[in-house]
This record gives sequence, structure tokens and C-alpha cells, in this order.
Amino acid sequence: MAQEDLFKKIIAHAKEYGFVFPSSEIYDGMSAVYDYGQNGVELKNNIRRYWWDAMVTMNENVVGLDSAIFMHPDIWKASGHVDAFNDPLIDNKDSKKRYRADQLIEDYIDKLRRKIEKEVTKAAKRFGDSFDSEQFLSTNPRVLSNQEKIDTVHKRFVKALEDDDLEELKQIILDCEIADPESGSRNWTDVRQFNLMFDTSIGSVSDTASKIYLRPETAQGIFVNFLNVQKSGRMKIPFGIAQTGKAFRNEIVARQFIMRMREFEQMEMQFFVPPGEELKWFEYWKETRMRWHKSLGLGGENYRFHDHDKLAHYANAATDIEYNFPIGFKEVEGIHSRTDFDLTQHQKFSGKKMQYFDNDLNASYIPFVVETSIGLDRMFLTVLAGSYLEEKLEKEGSDEQRIVLKIPPFLAPVKVAVLPLVKKDGLPDVARKIMNELKLDFNCQYEEKDSIGRRYRRQDAIGTPYCITIDHQTKDDDTVTIRDRDTMKQERIPIKQARDIVQQKVSAQNQLRKLG
Ligand code: ATP
Repeated sequence: MAQEDLFKKIIAHAKEYGFVFPSSEIYDGMSAVYDYGQNGVELKNNIRRYWWDAMVTMNENVVGLDSAIFMHPDIWKASGHVDAFNDPLIDNKDSKKRYRADQLIEDYIDKLRRKIEKEVTKAAKRFGDSFDSEQFLSTNPRVLSNQEKIDTVHKRFVKALEDDDLEELKQIILDCEIADPESGSRNWTDVRQFNLMFDTSIGSVSDTASKIYLRPETAQGIFVNFLNVQKSGRMKIPFGIAQTGKAFRNEIVARQFIMRMREFEQMEMQFFVPPGEELKWFEYWKETRMRWHKSLGLGGENYRFHDHDKLAHYANAATDIEYNFPIGFKEVEGIHSRTDFDLTQHQKFSGKKMQYFDNDLNASYIPFVVETSIGLDRMFLTVLAGSYLEEKLEKEGSDEQRIVLKIPPFLAPVKVAVLPLVKKDGLPDVARKIMNELKLDFNCQYEEKDSIGRRYRRQDAIGTPYCITIDHQTKDDDTVTIRDRDTMKQERIPIKQARDIVQQKVSAQNQLRKLG
């Protein structure tokens, strides 16, 4: 199946099974805004919880915070967002579609890279064991010509970004003959800067004095509370403050489902360290966060680091953790060494000291900060994409297949489904009794409609790790069958063992223990 088709199927599946709905759908929807349905909200809560436990509960020196979305507007002047939170946009005059100029160029470079990869795969097949990829890469004329194009464009691109040279960005698009991906037209406008912050007004008068912004990141709420938390919690550096919450960006191009939304949720942690120690901690958090991602079992080979070509004005090191989605490798999380930029700026703009007195060093300083910033919605999409599977069933002569979400069990929206085999003979009553016990520990679902096979399929489609079926034998000997989502094997067990079996499989504790 083509990867683009797979992505479309995942989006359709997410809607059909109550994970994600387009916002305001009966009013024809809102671009790049989505609602989470009955299963989506459970999965989202579970991912958020896993992040919180791994970052806050498991780390003695990281504490939580929940700061307000509305903040003093000067905060966004201090942070640089009013002046510099821009994306370079370009319009196609024929299709009237709007794009990010930097992304058009990045996609062009990616295309060339994929061409090289294709040449290598083809040659490796042709030459078999005797294939020497290094020699091939350094001698094949087509590879060399594409590599040269990449190097030249990449160099110009990085320089244009560093110099904020919008004319040069447009010139690169023209020189590379980059066309509108939808219409194929090369009729482009000039490149302009576009500020991504939403604003609104607070109070009853709408004048410029009451203008405030919807936060474009949660981080600033942490910076301005740095001393509140440090003093009230008697925190000693190095320590971190974590929070999850909504962020808002008026994205120029927002066409990839929940990958790029205008309202989304972030899970961020700012780690405060002594000046000079930031790069050591940057490496530490890079590795720690990659371990968290890989612990989910969605395929270690699907993750990579991508170091930034252009560092943001506040950073002295930055990398992204990318996941291989059906639409290619995309950023899920950023890890940034933000220096002392934010705290210094807030000290300047607020006139309040943002310093920490270090007893060990007997000195005051403005701490440096390493940040980990992950999008909850992109993480949600990672779990969906990494667990969606169409499986052919091995019944002889059958072309039946099932769609199963092999979501890591501890993240699954529903942990166990309780199913009376038939809707009579007192089986529903027994099933209800079992359900009433299990729901004290797990999110359970009771279902008695349709054949048992169809009910299993529905639970597979939402990723329920276990189905417990109550049949006539249950009434005789207090046993039930328990069916495993992944192997589809059923086992007969005493009712009283059900809780422990499910617990063993879905426990987040076991998962956290693995993180060490
Ligand atoms: P991108 O380059 O994809 O626009 P970014 O580098 O601007 O992302 P950050 O500012 O580092 O993103 O934000 C941290 C995380 O927040 C990202 O790794 C991503 O997971 C998430 N994120 C950012 N913008 C969006 C968005 N528009 N929709 C959903 N998630 C987002």
C-alpha cells in the first residue's frame, strides 16, 4: 500500500472509531482544528500521564506546574515572540495556495535525498553481496550530481535563514524550479514574514492597551514562575519544572491532520543548570528522551535525531527527535539548550531579579536552561501510525482481514472488554458483575450486541489488549475465556485471576521500571 494511502486510512480509522473528529464538522469544519472523541481522549490522557510519570514522578528534581494561558503581553515582547515568531510565507498566484517557503525548499532537498537512496537500493539489488555502498556513493555520476545539488542548495538555504534574507529564499525556489505541490504552477509571490501568534483583547474595552496573546508555547509560563517554584519548593539547581497545556499558532500551512494544528497541546520541561553545564545536560536529556520514545516499542529504527540547520536566537544547541510517519520523518519533540536568554530577558523587561544563589559555589547567577518540548498531538499520531496494522487472518480459504491497533497496552484507551457470549440465559448478569469489579481498576467496556466475532473485531480496531468472554460454562465453574489482542489466542481462566492477568499486561509501572 502506498504510504500516502496508509496515512489517509489512519485518518479515516481515527474518525470511524471515535479517536479524532474534525472540529465543528456540522458547520463544515475548521481548518487545522480537531476534537478528540471517546477513545481519543483516553489515549491522549494515557500518553500525557506516561510523560508526566517519566518526567516528574520518576525524577526527584523535576516538579510540575500549571500556568495560565493568558499572560502579561510584555512576556511575549521579552521572549522575542512579538518581533521574531515568524514563518516565511509564499503564495502561489495561480492556485492561491499558501506555503512556508522554508518547507518548500526542505521538501525539495528531501526529494533529492530520496532519489539517492533509491539509486543505492537499486544498485544493491543488482550487485548483491559484492555491493560496496561507499564506493557507489562516491563514484556514481547520478548520485554525485544530486549530492552536489543538495550541497549547493543547502548552503544557500542556511545562509538565507541566518541572514533573514527573504529575497534569496524566493530566488532559491525559482532557481530550483520548485512548483506548487498541488497545482504544479511556478507562479510565486514574494516571500513575506508572518507572525504566528493569535491575539485577543482582555476586559470590556478593545483598544491596544488590552491586547493579549494566546500563548504559542507553554515554556514562558515556566520561566516567569521559576523563582516562585524554586523558593516555595526549596529547589536546588540542577532542577526542572514541567507542564502540559494548550498552545496556539496561526500556522500558514496546516494540511497534515493533527501533525500541524492551530490549537494543540505541548508537554514541556525546562531544566535549570549552572552556566557552562548546559551542553552536558543537553546530551543527558537527548538520550533520556530518546529512550522514552523507544520504550513504546513502535520500532527503534523509526526514530532519528535531526540537528537544527539554523539555531533559534536563544539556543546554543538544538536537535529534534523525528519519527518515520507514513508521510516521512517528521519532528515529534525538540530538545533545546536555551542558554540564559529567557530568564535574562524577563529580568530586563520585568525589572525583577531572576537570579539563583548557589550555596555550593557561594555565588548568584542566572541559570542556563535545557528544554524538552514534545507535542502531545504529534505523539498521539505517532502511537496511531506505529500501531495501525491490517492483518490477514489465517482461516483456510478465507480472505478475511482485521484492522488492529497494536497500541502499547498501558496506553490503550480501553484495557479490557467484557462480553457475554449471548444476550440470554443469565450471562449478561454474570458479565455485569465481573465488569463492576474490573472497572474499579481499569477502563472497561461492556458489549453484548452482535456476534462475538464482530465484537472482537471492534475491540481490535480500538486496540483493547484483552477481551473476557462469559459463556455457559462460566455459570458452572466460574471460569471465563480471555483473548489476547495480538495473538488472538483464547485461554480459559478462573474469574478471580482475570484482574491480575490484565494488570500484569497493562501496568504502566512495569513500563516505567524499564526506563530505569
Ligand atoms: P515545526 O518545525 O514542525 O513547526 P517547531 O520546531 O516550531 O515545529 P517547537 O516550537 O519546537 O516546534 O514545539 C515543540 C513541539 O510542539 C514540536 O516538536 C511539535 O511536536 C509540537 N508542535 C509545534 N507546532 C505544532 C503544531 N502546529 N501542531 C501540533 N504540534 C505542534
